[in-house]
Amino acid sequence: MLAERVRKIAPSATLAIDAKAKQLKKEGKDIVIFGAGEPDFNTPENIKKAALKSIDDNITRYTPVGGMPELKKAAAEKFKRYNNINYDISEILISCGGKHSLFNIMMAVLDKGDEAILPVPYWVSYEEMIKLAEAKIVLCGTDEKFKLTSKIVGEKITDKTKMLILNTPNNPTGAVVDPDEMKKIAELAVDNNFYVVSDEVYEFFIYGNERHLSIASLNDKIKNLTISVNSVSKTYAMTGWRIGYCGASNEIIKAMENLQSHSTSNPSNIAQMAALEALNGPQDSVKEMVRAFDERRKFMHKRLNEIDGISCIEPEGAFYVFPDIRETGMKSLEFTSRLLDEALVAVVPGIAFGSDNNVRLSYATSMHEIEKGLDKIEKWLKQTTVKIH
Ligand code: GLU
Repeated sequence: MLAERVRKIAPSATLAIDAKAKQLKKEGKDIVIFGAGEPDFNTPENIKKAALKSIDDNITRYTPVGGMPELKKAAAEKFKRYNNINYDISEILISCGGKHSLFNIMMAVLDKGDEAILPVPYWVSYEEMIKLAEAKIVLCGTDEKFKLTSKIVGEKITDKTKMLILNTPNNPTGAVVDPDEMKKIAELAVDNNFYVVSDEVYEFFIYGNERHLSIASLNDKIKNLTISVNSVSKTYAMTGWRIGYCGASNEIIKAMENLQSHSTSNPSNIAQMAALEALNGPQDSVKEMVRAFDERRKFMHKRLNEIDGISCIEPEGAFYVFPDIRETGMKSLEFTSRLLDEALVAVVPGIAFGSDNNVRLSYATSMHEIEKGLDKIEKWLKQTTVKIH
């Protein structure tokens, strides 16, 4: 019999869909993949060269558990430059991807009986990580545009609240928390003394006039309660390299590092050298990617709203759309599995994000694939809904 801890968790739906879709593609099926969120761009050349050079230079041995000092310094400088947060190097930890940073946080901070407020829709893995830490998940809603507000958070606070998960720009909705609301949420955290896990991995993917705001930049009190999570995966098209970084009080960082010393040791040093170049090197590739995603975002939003049975809010950030499929008469699992089997289009069921009325499509794929995929969805829905009604 397996341990209860693993029996009660579900596998990652995003990664499961991705694996299934990639397998079908390998078998020669003409499949359009809107599944796992990863940029379709290649890792920029300067970053790849830095990794190759590190191998040639024999930088292939253990590094300190929490990351190379040069990379920690680069992460601290980036937090200062872009996020306006002052972290000392002792307040930085490098991990094997943002997901690993988050896992370390939950294990380091949450105890049985603690409550963690998780706004819905949420990224799939938060829920399972909180469960693994044996804490209680307290779900809270968002407004009609999927935005988190201080009022909604305030209603869920109890004397057991230990943490709030704040993910802006949000996966899966693309919603961005309004600055005024962010300030009020920070006040709630300070007044009620709970941690804010601020997952900012989509910080560069903000469109229109919005500018990313990091909650820890607001004042020292909230900074001391915030764990700022980031990664090079999305920003530099480096999903497979597995480098995440976070900033928090030295007490939390030390605990996370201690945990990491017994699980993964250091993140791959070759990937760390690549991440160093990513953070310190030219940033043009980021702008280019954001420009392309913005164009796709607008197209996706417009085109999805033209399809009968689907309605879609315009996302402000990240690279996902989260359309409402209620009018098709299907719940998200039926919608996604039939869409995959009958029309060879892979999307992620909203139920995995806590919202069964929606599905998630990543637009981090080429315009050609987007056009083809949406045409297929329209055609499939026309046939399907004729049968349903
Ligand atoms: N974070 C991405 C997603 O939501 C990658 C897959 C995963 O780690 O969940 O699709």
